[in-house]
Amino acid sequence: MTRLRHRNGSPHVVVVGGGFAGLAAVKTLAKVKPPVRVTLLEQHNYHLFQPLLYQLATGLVQPADIAHPIRAIVRRYRRTSVRMATVSGVDFDARQVLTEEGRRFGYDYLILAAGATTATFGIPGVEEHSFPLKSMPDALRLRAQLLRQFELAENDPSEIDKGALTVVVVGGGPTGVEMAGAMHELFKHVLVHDFPDLDIANARVVLLEATDHLLAPFHPSSRQHAQDILAKRGVEVRLGQALERATPTEVKLKDGPVIPTRTLVWGAGVRAHPLADDLGLEQTRGGRVLVGEDLSVPGRPEVFVVGDLAGAGDGKGGLLPQVAQPAIQEARHAALQIQHSLDGTERTGFQYKDKGIMATIGRNAAVTELPSGARFKGVLAWYMWLVLHLAYIIGFRSRVAVLVNWIWSYLTYDRHARIIVAVEPARRAARAAQPPAAAPSGAGSRERPAVP
Ligand SMILES: Cc1cc2nc3c(=O)[nH]c(=O)nc-3n(C[C@H](O)[C@H](O)[C@H](O)COP(=O)(O)OP(=O)(O)OC[C@H]3O[C@@H](n4cnc5c(N)ncnc54)[C@H](O)[C@@H]3O)c2cc1C
Repeated sequence: MTRLRHRNGSPHVVVVGGGFAGLAAVKTLAKVKPPVRVTLLEQHNYHLFQPLLYQLATGLVQPADIAHPIRAIVRRYRRTSVRMATVSGVDFDARQVLTEEGRRFGYDYLILAAGATTATFGIPGVEEHSFPLKSMPDALRLRAQLLRQFELAENDPSEIDKGALTVVVVGGGPTGVEMAGAMHELFKHVLVHDFPDLDIANARVVLLEATDHLLAPFHPSSRQHAQDILAKRGVEVRLGQALERATPTEVKLKDGPVIPTRTLVWGAGVRAHPLADDLGLEQTRGGRVLVGEDLSVPGRPEVFVVGDLAGAGDGKGGLLPQVAQPAIQEARHAALQIQHSLDGTERTGFQYKDKGIMATIGRNAAVTELPSGARFKGVLAWYMWLVLHLAYIIGFRSRVAVLVNWIWSYLTYDRHARIIVAVEPARRAARAAQPPAAAPSGAGSRERPAVP
């Protein structure tokens, strides 16, 4: 193995992105010997726990419960510094990371972990009129939209027939399933009391899935369980139904039907962060950056790509799923390869350790599958989901806050964070709340196992 030469002093590692992968890399690099200097570049000043975004969108938790200040996480690592910066590109020959703020960060080793974004598959109207769930503003925007539509319907019940209380969720993967279940609970257990003059039976949650099953990565019995539970609780599950186009007031399905709605929730697609398109590196399915067995970029042994941004092989000819465990394990592996380069030992190929998959469907209902083949559903799977997700939330305070919210909500059916916060331009917020004068004319599923 070639020993990479460094500039003066300790080798400098730049990590781009403070998500699951970026933080795992930083933690592992803190233990590397000889010590390295680390600079973490993150566009936000917080780490976001994406798996609970749907709970933020449905009023169960508050922003600070699922977002933790990056500096508070990293300050315990003496040789690691943080810069709030948005990376715009990399000059690989000069070994410099470029930021939108006009700064350049030189590196000896680089770990790119900028995550993923939503893919709309070019379906007309989805980009403009849907509510994705990828970031904190996304979740707050969706929460505001849901609540505004109820306010609107109470002021003018004729809006109900025009879709004010109809939510269409696209994508029957874990995100779509958990969103549909949680929204239905919000309507039937919470908003029913807030809006006593509204007939809550008119509030609909429609879950659209293009294939003939929900939860693609799961065993057929788990899929069926999810479908049965959702249907039993009142979610309209429509399988084999793909979206053709969306407008601000309705969605049109490929086989004809039109559903009036103002709230189209997009949980159907994911692709690598757009940064991947600007790097000039070879990309694979979903725009992900192609990496070698050690997770470095072919021909650039000092550059690693990990997490949702990376197209790491699963050893069976496919790619690893874009979920938290591969991201964490890949990041640790990349950091250890830097260790190998520093001490002159041979690099190793990445091998993913499957820890199982799980998805929550709603109160007392989840599905969990372990690599051993053991499958759990119902309350036990739900407890497993709760414990695991709680364990992965960063910060004791946040963990306690989330747990208290969960217990409170479980005992009282209440969701205290049902607050409308305007996180969008006033013009768009106004447009979202108001029924448009006339309706202008205006997929697959995120294959996401759900174990962090
Ligand atoms: C709604 C939702 C629910 C999910 N639920 C689950 C689940 O239950 N279980 C599970 O295992 N996985 C789940 N996932 C997937 C999981 O969250 C991701 O796989 C995981 O976050 C990937 O980690 P990452 O570090 O690669 O990317 P991320 O965690 O997305 O981190 C990327 C970081 O890079 C930063 N960044 C991006 N671009 C730049 C830039 N140009 N400059 C600087 N910083 C930048 C971002 O701000 C972000 O902090 C879910 C995802 C979503 C959206």
